[in-house]
Parts: sequence; structure tokens; C-alpha cells
Amino acid sequence: MLVELDAPLAPLTTLRLGGPARRLVTATTDDEVIETVRAADAAGEPLLVIGGGSNLVIGDRGFAGTVLRIATTGFALDGTELELAAGEVWSEAVARAVDAGLAGIEFLAGIPGSAGATPVQNVGAYGQEVATGITEVVAYDRRAGETVVLSNEECEFSYRHSRFKADPERYVVLRVRFRLEDADGLSTAVRYAEVARTLGVEAGERVDLATAYKTVLGLRAGKGMVLDPADHDTWSAGSFFTNPVLTADQYAAFLARLGDRSAPAYPAPGECTKTSAAWLIDQAGFGKGYGTGPATLSTKHTLALTNRGAATTEDLLALAREIRDGVRTAFGVDLVNEPVMIGVAL
Ligand SMILES: Cc1cc2nc3c(=O)[nH]c(=O)nc-3n(C[C@H](O)[C@H](O)[C@H](O)COP(=O)(O)OP(=O)(O)OC[C@H]3O[C@@H](n4cnc5c(N)ncnc54)[C@H](O)[C@@H]3O)c2cc1C
Repeated sequence: MLVELDAPLAPLTTLRLGGPARRLVTATTDDEVIETVRAADAAGEPLLVIGGGSNLVIGDRGFAGTVLRIATTGFALDGTELELAAGEVWSEAVARAVDAGLAGIEFLAGIPGSAGATPVQNVGAYGQEVATGITEVVAYDRRAGETVVLSNEECEFSYRHSRFKADPERYVVLRVRFRLEDADGLSTAVRYAEVARTLGVEAGERVDLATAYKTVLGLRAGKGMVLDPADHDTWSAGSFFTNPVLTADQYAAFLARLGDRSAPAYPAPGECTKTSAAWLIDQAGFGKGYGTGPATLSTKHTLALTNRGAATTEDLLALAREIRDGVRTAFGVDLVNEPVMIGVAL
């Protein structure tokens, strides 16, 4: 277990932003994770758990407490059952599952961060989300002071949300268990129109597993959504805003403001409609590359706010507020941030 004092956090985030941690603990076993959490809780010390730092916006003043970086390892495959230690690098785990001929997470290729963070916001992309494959999550329950096993239902997954995100002070994910599918070298059904178009198939068809994986990686790279230290378009936290889910009344009001434009619309649970945050941002006048300061929109994707190299967290938040306010003025829709904010708010 490595303990560092007054440790910079910016290098541990994909935005490369944020001040120092009073204390940074890097844990490589479940016991070290639990020991660190217990000690912080017993001392009443603020605790921040991090994996790959790819969904975090940390304030310029940093974190006045213990930051626990989970660096545990473990990739255990038994038939189609896969158990990942929380610290495993997610994109590498997806690659290994695909190499083993197993479908179920192939469309989640190239997403940065750790396996343990995937249940937190129910990571999803290109028509797939981890909630579909997860059978159980093993977590340390800080309230009960013990390790618990949560079933898929108990994780309360929904769009970019879960029990872990709803109650961030309670659970530390230790292991995530998946049931994958051996479909004789085929992927799960293609659900996302852009993927289907690129592959030249109809939505609902299965394709060669390795081809599905490579296709997604290619699409993501073209949008700056695969990490590349040399490319500032990837110095981001991925999508900065979630796609707004509108109630029937909100959707009617939104349609009334659209005039003769037509916005993307997808059915969402509870008779709601999901529209596209990227479309709203673009149509509100914030195109790719928008901004002249040290933080700008990615030149490849309107949804990614990026650090061009010399930004502070305040620079990034100023841009985020400008975009949020512009979309509200243009369409009456409130954008909500997807990354977790530490010591700051929009
Ligand atoms: C270029 C880019 C592309 C992205 N594309 C996508 C995408 O397509 N789809 C998508 O859903 N997301 C995407 N993301 C967001 C991000 O990669 C995911 O949310 C990822 O799961 C975060 O993992 P992490 O380990 O980096 O978490 P961190 O950023 O370190 O932490 C995020 C949150 O999870 C908590 N957390 C982390 N580990 C644990 C744990 N073991 N137990 C309890 N809580 C924990 C943290 O406290 C924090 O609240 C993208 C990000 C980037 C930079």
C-alpha cells in the first residue's frame, strides 16, 4: 500500500485537472482497500474513491482528506462467467473477453477507467450498457461495516445511474461479476444505428465479434473518445452532459420551441422522451471546437469539454456554465453534468 502526502491529483484524471489530495493511498488488494476505508471512516476523515479518474471534475483546491486509488487486479473467467477486480482497466478487460470469444461487453470497447467504476454510472455506449451483463457486485458497505454482494436488481441500474451513484458515501466496489455469452464468434445484436450503418447490417443482426469490437473502437477514435495523451481532444471526461430525459409536458414545451426543426427523440421509461445533448449544444450555437480559452469543446465532438493543456477546473466550469445557460435560453432544457464533481458545482 502506497501512501503519499499532498499528492497532485490532476495527473490521475483524464482531464488533467484538480488540486492535490491531503493524502493519497494506492491500494492493490481488497484488504488494503477495506483497511483504508475503515481507518478513514473511524477517524471521520473525508474519503474519495477513484479508479481511472475519467469521470471526475476535481476542484482546483483539491481534496482535503484521503483519496483512495483502487489498483487491485484480477480477471477470472469460468465458462461465460467473468469476475473483474475493481482496479482492472476496463478497456483491457473488454479486449480479453472478446479474445476469449465472449459477447456482451464488446460495444463498450475503448471506454476509459476501471472495472469497479462501471456499475457506478451504469456505463454504456453504442446500444449496450453494463447493467445487461452484470449479475452481482461485491462491495464494501461503509454503513454496515462489512462486505456485501448485491444482485443486479439491488444495484438499481437506470440510464447512467445506479444505487452506487445515488448513495456515493456508502459503497466501495471491490469486484464486478458478469454473465457473458458464447455465441460462436458472433456479437450480441447490433442496436445502434450508426454501428449498423458502418457495418452495413440491419439493427438487430449479430456480426462477427472481433469486427464489432474494432468497429466501435474506430468510431470512438474518430470522435476523440479513446484516450490519446498526444490529442487534447481526449483530455476530457467523455460526455460532459447526459442526454436530457423529458416528461410528456416538458417534451411538448420543447417541441413548441423547435419551430420547423426536428430534434432526435427516443422513447424512455415512464412515458418520457430522451433527446440528444450533443444536438442541443450544437443547435444552441456551440459547435465543435467552440471556445478560445484554455478549455474548449473538442474539435471532434460537441459533448466533450476539453483541457487544451493549461486549463484550470474553473476555466472548464466557466465553459460548462456558458453552454448549460445557452441551451436553457434556446430550448428551455436543463443540461445535467455526467461526471462526478468534487468540491465544485456547475
Ligand atoms: C474519452 C472518454 C470517453 C468516455 N466514454 C464513455 C462512454 O462511452 N460511456 C460511459 O458511460 N462513460 C464514458 N466515459 C466516462 C468514464 O470513462 C466512465 O464513467 C468510467 O466508468 C469511469 O471510470 P473511472 O475508473 O475512471 O472512474 P473515476 O473517474 O475514477 O470515478 C468516477 C466515480 O466513480 C466512483 N468510483 C470509482 N471507482 C469506484 C469503486 N471501486 N467503488 C465505488 N465508487 C467508485 C468515484 O468515486 C467517482 O464518483 C468516458 C470518459 C472519457 C474520458
